[in-house]
Amino acid sequence: MDVSHILDNLNDEQRKAVASPSPHQLVLAGAGSGKTRVLVHRIAWLIEAEQASPFSILAVTFTNKAAREMRGRIDELLGQHHGGMWVGTFHGLAHRLLRTHWQEAGLVQDFHILDSDDQLRLIKRINRSLRIDDDKWPAKQCQWYINSQKDEGLRAANIDHFEDDYTKTMLQVYAAYEEACNRGGMIDFGEILLRAHELWLKNPQVLAHYQKRFKHILVDEFQDTNAIQYAWLRVLSGADNSLMVVGDDDQSIYGWRGARIENIQQFNVDFLDADIIRLEQNYRSTSTILKAANKLIENNQGRLGKNLWTEDGDGEQISLYEAFNEQDEARFVVDRIQDWFNSGNRRIDSAILYRSNAQSRELEDALLRVGMPYRIYGGHRFYERLEIKNALAYLRLLVNRDDDTAMERIINVPTRGIGGRTMENIRSIARDDASSLWKACAKCVNESLLSSRAANAVLAFMELIDNLNDGCDELELHEKVAHIINNTGLIQHHEKEGGEKARARVENLDELISAAGNFDDAELDEEFDIKSYAFLSAFLDQAALDAGESQASESEDAVQLMTLHSAKGLEFQLVFLVGLEEGLFPHKMSMDNITGLEEERRLCYVGITRAEKKLYISHAESRRMHGDVNLCRPSRFINEIPSELIDEVRLKSSVSRPSFGTTKLGTGLTRQMSGNIEVPQTELSLGQRVIHGKFGEGVILNYEGQGSSARVQVSFDDVGSKWLVLSYAKLEVLA
Ligand code: ATP
Ligand code: MG
Repeated sequence: MDVSHILDNLNDEQRKAVASPSPHQLVLAGAGSGKTRVLVHRIAWLIEAEQASPFSILAVTFTNKAAREMRGRIDELLGQHHGGMWVGTFHGLAHRLLRTHWQEAGLVQDFHILDSDDQLRLIKRINRSLRIDDDKWPAKQCQWYINSQKDEGLRAANIDHFEDDYTKTMLQVYAAYEEACNRGGMIDFGEILLRAHELWLKNPQVLAHYQKRFKHILVDEFQDTNAIQYAWLRVLSGADNSLMVVGDDDQSIYGWRGARIENIQQFNVDFLDADIIRLEQNYRSTSTILKAANKLIENNQGRLGKNLWTEDGDGEQISLYEAFNEQDEARFVVDRIQDWFNSGNRRIDSAILYRSNAQSRELEDALLRVGMPYRIYGGHRFYERLEIKNALAYLRLLVNRDDDTAMERIINVPTRGIGGRTMENIRSIARDDASSLWKACAKCVNESLLSSRAANAVLAFMELIDNLNDGCDELELHEKVAHIINNTGLIQHHEKEGGEKARARVENLDELISAAGNFDDAELDEEFDIKSYAFLSAFLDQAALDAGESQASESEDAVQLMTLHSAKGLEFQLVFLVGLEEGLFPHKMSMDNITGLEEERRLCYVGITRAEKKLYISHAESRRMHGDVNLCRPSRFINEIPSELIDEVRLKSSVSRPSFGTTKLGTGLTRQMSGNIEVPQTELSLGQRVIHGKFGEGVILNYEGQGSSARVQVSFDDVGSKWLVLSYAKLEVLA
């Protein structure tokens, strides 16, 4: 077979890596130098030149989106889709193993995944029952402790407390948490990896099977593997397996979750014969963008160091926009994307990247206002929304009555008279009997342990669930979901909230039915009967694993929104890095220590290097966060980019503007106290929403002048931006 097409379009170093005769390779190189490309071509090379079976290939990457893209690139290169190849994230792959080998892994067959929200609730409950002082040992801290230990591969029984108070308490919680999870058949994200590692260690025959199968293991974004992931890989890649890892120390951004850059050095020790390949040419970005990234990252110490260059021209300068506030920032970004789209580009080639999930809401608002389709990856996850979690909890209870987290969530949702006191009774019985809440409920009812009112309510709830089950057996998955949503009173429950929010919640519930309808088992290992509860379980797992649901349909041309963390490995022609402010980015939690700060800088490096052609950076003078308006200083990262690469965007109208966005403007409608008559006072401020008799709703962008000549600039949702004389405009303030 002619395999030359696999080596075409690669540079010498890339080719060396792709066709390497050595069993092990470490490709260590900067952003956009073709690491992922090498990995994909290596897979094609193995299949076509070395006649490896697709079944023998295991490729690991970091996010579901990256895994899907990798899959696409492989299929494209090979001209066909090969089933049997495993391409996924560590979590996804480990989960798949546990589903197949649940028995060997010591799990119950219908185990389910606990997301971090559920996990926190469970820990809170445990802490209450252990009478742990929440002020002294907040549940969040315990959660962090447990997760970090799991990332290091440690169970409560493996840890010594050395009589230290803190460790003692944490271990007490950890042990009780492990017990509760085992009892309820639940596993959290860290546990997925830990179990998968133990699966190897405790079951030599299972390990031998997969070692024999996965002759070729390839890992992208290797710099972000943590201890347990590396250990898992290390064990799997026994004596005869080949292992290629690719990564960039400058893009290590998961230190806070236990990722270890040291794994790169460790790889060199563990695999002495590895071919080490460095790539230096960047094929992604313009020289301006690359220079900015290189300069920024030079501020970090102790780098492995590299010299990235490109043949690409300078391209456009980086544009820097200083916004009044977060609304102005969002509007600026959306305007630029509209321009971009109107000049014949695709929205999907643009991305807005931010440090924190909460920043997306303002951007979403601005996008919705102009009706521009967008898609969010990570955060704001569909499956994490309250109403969806309620519906899923009912579904989980259908599959497994002993699912305590699900039970806690919905036993009194919608309200059915099972109050806090009753719940306490039930919990304490469950604790004493080491049984599930469901079993404790049954006992309470049978042995009349509750007041008759409470007992009736509990009985009615149990009957509801059992009846739902009866009606469900013969239904297809989406019908099951619809059946639950329609027969549990969830819709009415959420409708009661009223307003836009309630509408959105009900729409989301509808959307869940569609999601169930679209769910198929193509990506799964087994084939399911679509009426089976196993299929429902698979759907629930997918819901828990999926890193985010799209707002626009997959095929629609939509702007992409994501956190910097989720942008790793991706590239876009047009990139907006928003919210570059001290405290937001670098994040205030990481600003005060050098390790944290350097990780923030690497994150910024990741952000900049996502851009191919054009990069916008923005920050706001003031920003509302957690309900308060804060004045913000521009991020130090902006200063670390050489100023000659930056073009400051100025507003068209050069009006004086207040030094910060909370300034209250006296309006034309307002008169101060005149004589003894008090005139009602209206106050406008920048960023405030107003309504105008003719132009409709809009947001105040700017103002100038005083008294009767005062003018404001309002960006109206329908007619765009206008300057209005305040005393004539009759603006009404919207809440
Ligand atoms: P990151 O560090 O961001 O993950 P990377 O090193 O994995 O980046 P790739 O995504 O593989 O880089 O490549 C960056 C871009 O450069 C891609 O669009 C890729 O197709 C292109 N590219 C890489 N090598 C070549 C080459 N030899 N010829 C042409 N294009 C290339
Ligand atoms: Mg990559």
